[in-house]
Amino acid sequence: LGNGSAFRRCLHNPRRVTIISTVRGRRPHYTKVSAELEGKIFCPFCPGNEKHTPPATLVLAKSSESKYCFLREERSGEIGDWIVRVFPNKYPALIPKANSDLTYGYHEVLVETRIHNEEEYLKDPENIYFALKTLKERIKRILEDPRIKHVIVIKNKGAKAGASITHPHLQIFANTFVPPEIEEEIYGFKRYYEENGKCPLCYLISTHKELVFYTNESFASLVAYAPRVPYETYIVPLKHTFNFLSMGDVEILSLSRALSKTMLSLRRVLGDFDYNFWFHMVYDSSLKFYHWHIEVLPLTTTWGGYEKGSGVYIIDRFPESAASELRKAISSGT
Ligand SMILES: [Zn+2]
Ligand SMILES: [Zn+2]
Ligand SMILES: [Zn+2]
Repeated sequence: LGNGSAFRRCLHNPRRVTIISTVRGRRPHYTKVSAELEGKIFCPFCPGNEKHTPPATLVLAKSSESKYCFLREERSGEIGDWIVRVFPNKYPALIPKANSDLTYGYHEVLVETRIHNEEEYLKDPENIYFALKTLKERIKRILEDPRIKHVIVIKNKGAKAGASITHPHLQIFANTFVPPEIEEEIYGFKRYYEENGKCPLCYLISTHKELVFYTNESFASLVAYAPRVPYETYIVPLKHTFNFLSMGDVEILSLSRALSKTMLSLRRVLGDFDYNFWFHMVYDSSLKFYHWHIEVLPLTTTWGGYEKGSGVYIIDRFPESAASELRKAISSGT
């Protein structure tokens, strides 16, 4: 499956199609995009600079030798020995004081770690574990607001992704409505289930092993069946569930290990690459056919007018061959 061409429709979102055409022989340029100016630029997310950000809505801190607790700040920087820190975005897209119901919401930043360097952060899954544990707690608290119908978590890394700060951080957007992309997927999962009697993601991870490049007890990482960009990757729980709020500590640790391996193997293949990723989850327990997942979109190529204007994505590499490359990157010790 290294050469040739193919047409594929995304199984859980039928409005996206991909044409794979290796004959185009385009630009072998999966190179670094993020030119880091480490150590030169002031970082407001580094320990000691908390006063440059709003007071934290949630902080994970150590309470004793082996215990952790969640706290809240009155003043910025009140909790100096934080492990993970969540606070409102300084330039929010959504605000809790909005007049209109559709602009009401929360837009927050979750600083995942005290460590400024992403690669160093990713190397120890325990760092990711603390970030995810805090993320889960913050989403639970936001959902206590009865006006909130949906929460999406995203990550922008690098200039191409629209990020100005390199320190590892996530963004949380909580809306009074379900965003269109999620509605599209809800429809896609439902339709696939009605037509085929199964979930498209359960089907992919159990049957299309050639796309899967990493698995542990609870999670699998695979290259998308119909990628929008080369190396588009999903991280999927093996257990069919619609969000991660019921995950216990053991599963959170499995997800941390999956994220660590996935991002480090992508780094090994693509260099210090720019990307967006997001958690796609739903919060309405009647949507049983929905299977939550993380989508990682490496920004190593640029979409042209055809991709943007038609929803047809042309890529020059089969996802099966990308998966095999990532599998090798993992076994060679990332
Ligand atoms: Zn920093
Ligand atoms: Zn499933
Ligand atoms: Zn999705």
